Amino acid sequence: MSIQLFVPKFRVEECLVEIRECLEKGWTGLGFKTVAFEDAWKTYTGLPHAHFLNSNTVGLQLALEVLGRRLGWEEGDEVITTPLTFVSSNHAVVYNGFKAVFADVDDSLCLDPQSIAAKITDRTRAVMFVGLGGNTGRYAEVLKLCRERGIAMILDAAHMAGTRVGGRHVGYDADATVFSFQAVKNLPTADSGMICFANEEDDAEVRKLSWLGINKDTYARTAAQGAYKWMYDVERVGYKFHGNSIMAAIGLVQLRYLDQDNAYRRQLASWYRGYLSGAKNIKLIPMTAGIESATHLFQVRVSNRDELMLALNENAVYPGVHYRDNTEYTMYSYGKGTCPNAAQASSEILSLPMHMGVTHADVKTIAELILKYAK
Ligand SMILES: *Cc1c(COP(=O)(O)O)cnc(C)c1O
Repeated sequence: MSIQLFVPKFRVEECLVEIRECLEKGWTGLGFKTVAFEDAWKTYTGLPHAHFLNSNTVGLQLALEVLGRRLGWEEGDEVITTPLTFVSSNHAVVYNGFKAVFADVDDSLCLDPQSIAAKITDRTRAVMFVGLGGNTGRYAEVLKLCRERGIAMILDAAHMAGTRVGGRHVGYDADATVFSFQAVKNLPTADSGMICFANEEDDAEVRKLSWLGINKDTYARTAAQGAYKWMYDVERVGYKFHGNSIMAAIGLVQLRYLDQDNAYRRQLASWYRGYLSGAKNIKLIPMTAGIESATHLFQVRVSNRDELMLALNENAVYPGVHYRDNTEYTMYSYGKGTCPNAAQASSEILSLPMHMGVTHADVKTIAELILKYAK
């Protein structure tokens, strides 16, 4: 039997009940379950605003567009970001005509505040911070730096559904926090995401932009009578980025199990740590003190990563790599050589199987293989 990196767990019967409700009601689109899921997400996280979207990628794009317009950012302005992420974080910068400026990571594999400080120019407008694997790294220091320098903070929380710091869910102190509920994330739907702005105006703006710019609130206020349903305004061009009720139906069920699932992920991580910590040739990723991580990933660093990966594959264990240094990609190659820690990490990191179907015996098997083959 093989052990895969990610296998999402769906509570099928419960999901079908929620989806059936949409089908029977004849309401599968925007509204209904999307509103229920936004409310449930606000209750769960304690964040003041939440808008359901069709992915995290579009959320990151909209976060920069909304903040950029309100704060008067211009084309060519800079967003400091990480090379060790899924390309969405960096593409979001490009979609908006801003420049992705790469800063380096520290041992947590998250952005290093010192490196960010060194990359700040008079055109720096935002930092895109990725909580890799659910960890927060030195987010608190980065946020402090942003606040001191008048720079916006966008938290790509694609791995952080359920990460808490000092008992509070992450995201409350960023200007925008964007979650992913893509098929293999901690709260899997099929594809969807949530954008949580700190500011109420930004939340109102993103609701319009995610539905083609349609000013539904104005409609709701001034033309509440059914006959005037068509009477809305469109102030500026928007996108078809909002989420739908089928995805929200699945999300509502998955959310009920998020804490339980994350607790099991932390159990897996602690088993991995128990077998691997202190081992020669194997480095573990330090976890920020005092956090309860969503533990989307459990990563190790080894010098013979590619060889180890093959050896594991031969034994039917299929780990992954999160991520290849984005400055290795053609379109971001202008950043090559500017982030040595990320480049080094990119050649050493390996993400071990992490999902509800992994057992203690699996962890032991995987750890033994790693101890045998790591150099
Ligand atoms: C998955 C992921 C995204 C993109 O999420 P989607 O919902 O698939 O658009 C962005 N950033 C990171 C770090 C991710 O892992």
